[in-house]
Amino acid sequence: MPDAAGRLAAIQERIAAACHQAGRGVEEVELLAVSKTFPAEAVRELYEAGQRAFGESRQQEADPKIAVLPDDARWHFIGGLQRNKARKVLAAFHCIHSIDSLRLAEAVDRISAEMQRLTPVYLELNLGQEESKGGFPVADLEAAATAIAGMQHLEVLGLMVIPPAEGEPRRWFSLAREWRDRLRIATSLSLSGLSMGMSGDFEDAVLEGATIVRVGSALFGNRDYP
Ligand SMILES: *Cc1c(COP(=O)(O)O)cnc(C)c1O
Repeated sequence: MPDAAGRLAAIQERIAAACHQAGRGVEEVELLAVSKTFPAEAVRELYEAGQRAFGESRQQEADPKIAVLPDDARWHFIGGLQRNKARKVLAAFHCIHSIDSLRLAEAVDRISAEMQRLTPVYLELNLGQEESKGGFPVADLEAAATAIAGMQHLEVLGLMVIPPAEGEPRRWFSLAREWRDRLRIATSLSLSGLSMGMSGDFEDAVLEGATIVRVGSALFGNRDYP
């Protein structure tokens, strides 16, 4: 296994190659290093190699890592978020990728107002209509986005998707982009962001317009789930 700098450079090269293939600029795609399940030491190594954006899906697991990394690391929350955890998550995280209900959006907006901050968020879309996954059902997305567009303390960056295991990832990513384009017309939101692509499929996501790819195991090594 190469060192952190080598692994980071390898992923960045793959992103750059996909950008090139798609006729996009490399600066159009951000790499989010998904550090969930990996120890703070591994996160620090990647930080020292120059990485700044990190993704975590559980606040309790993230807190000790956030505490030991320098302040200019940016933490993105990518897991399912319960409303009663929103306050703690907002205290520690810069951005939330997993807004998946109107009530959660309202809670995050209200807490952001109290904290006098503007919180960047993505609306998670349940593209495959899978019960096991979070995200707005496709049928609810437009009405929800219209309501969320009026929330003063949320900056809606775009859509986040985790495609179903079945089918070509690229088809799902293409569908996500179509939904984004449709929503752009239907709402006042600019929705320039698409949070999509993980270790196994981030190049496909870049080809279909991803602006931030969430890469864990390809950067940190295989994950040992307990
Ligand atoms: C774990 C996770 C990732 C990263 O997955 P890898 O396959 O390790 O790259 C990306 N997005 C979300 C929402 C995740 O939970």
